Amino acid sequence: MKNFTDKELIEIINTNKYDEELFKKADSIRREIYGTDVYIRGLIEFTNYCKNNCYYCGIRAGNTKTVRYRLDKDEILSCCDEGYKLGFRTFVLQGGEDPFFTDAKVCDIVYSIREKYPDCAITLSIGEKSKDSYKAYFDAGANRYLLRHETATESHYNMLHPSSMSLSSRKECLYNLKEIGYQTGSGFMVGSPFQTTENLVADLRFLQDLSPDMIGIGPYMTHSETPFSDKPGGTLELTLRMLAILRIMFPYALLPATTALGSIHPEGREMGLKAGANVVMPNLSPIKNRKNYDIYENKIATGLEAGQNVKELKEKFARIGYSIVTHRGDVKR
Ligand code: SAH
Repeated sequence: MKNFTDKELIEIINTNKYDEELFKKADSIRREIYGTDVYIRGLIEFTNYCKNNCYYCGIRAGNTKTVRYRLDKDEILSCCDEGYKLGFRTFVLQGGEDPFFTDAKVCDIVYSIREKYPDCAITLSIGEKSKDSYKAYFDAGANRYLLRHETATESHYNMLHPSSMSLSSRKECLYNLKEIGYQTGSGFMVGSPFQTTENLVADLRFLQDLSPDMIGIGPYMTHSETPFSDKPGGTLELTLRMLAILRIMFPYALLPATTALGSIHPEGREMGLKAGANVVMPNLSPIKNRKNYDIYENKIATGLEAGQNVKELKEKFARIGYSIVTHRGDVKR
C-alpha cells in the first residue's frame, strides 16, 4: 500500500493526460491481489422516487419530468431469478430515498431474497437511514451497503446538496454501516460542479480514515432537468487517474468500472479495468423501467451494459485479458 503525499496527488490529478505508466502500476497491484478476475454485480434499480433534491441528480424530487416507477417484491425477485440464471451471485438493490419502502418492506424484500438465494450477497444502496434501520436490514440478510460520501469537503458538499442534507450525517451513516458489519462502499463523483483538486485530495484522505471495502467513482454527468444543467461533466481521463490512485492506495478494495464511466466513452469500462478496477455492475432492472432511472443523461442501459448480455461482456473482457467470474466476489482483506 502506497501513501502518496498531497503534493504527489496534486501532481497526478493535474497532469491532464492518459497516464499509461500510472495505469500499469495500478493494474499490477490489482493482479497481485485479484489476478485478472472481474466480479459482477446484478444491479436492480427498484425505485426512482426520491425525497431528496441533490442538485446534480436527475431523479431528484424536484424533477417533475421524470416518469416515476417502483418495482414490487415479485418484480424484484424475478430480476434476481433472471440474474441468478445468468450467473450473478450478488444483487445490488439501488434506489432513490423512497419513503414508500418502509423498513418493514425493505426487510421483507431482503429476507425473501436471502431465503431464496442463500449463496448470494445482497447489497443495498438506498441512502441515509438510522442505525437501527441499517441494523434491521443487516439482520434480515443484507451483507453490503453502498453510500457514496459524494465529497468530503463540507463547503463543497453544501454546494451540491440542499441544506436539509449534511456531510456529517452522511459520514455518520458510513461509520454506522461499518460498525454493524456491512461490507461498506463509499465514493464520489469526479468532476462534480465546483470540485477542486484539493477536494479530491480530501476525498482520498477521508477514504483512508473510513477504510471502506468498496469505492465507487464515476464522472459527473450533466442532467438538463437539474439546477446544474449548465455545468460541464467530468472527464474520462481524470476518472481513470483517480481509479488508478485508488487501486494504489487501497490495493484490496473492490473498485467498480461504473456505468457512468461506460456512458462517457464506449470503451470506458474496459479502460477502467486496465486502470485498476475489478468490478462491473450490469443492469438487471426490467427493460421497461431502465430508461427512467436517469440519474444522468445518456446512461447506457442496453447493449453490453445489460445483465442479459453478460456472456458477450465476458467475451469482450477476455479479449483484453480479464475474466468475469461468477462467485459472490467478496473483498480480500
Ligand atoms: N439514493 C442512493 C443512490 C443514489 S444513485 C444514495 O443516496 O446512495 C448512486 C450514485 O449516483 C450517487 O451516489 C451519485 O454519486 C451518482 N450520481 C447521481 N447523479 C449523478 C450524475 N448526474 N452524474 C454522475 N453520477 C451521479
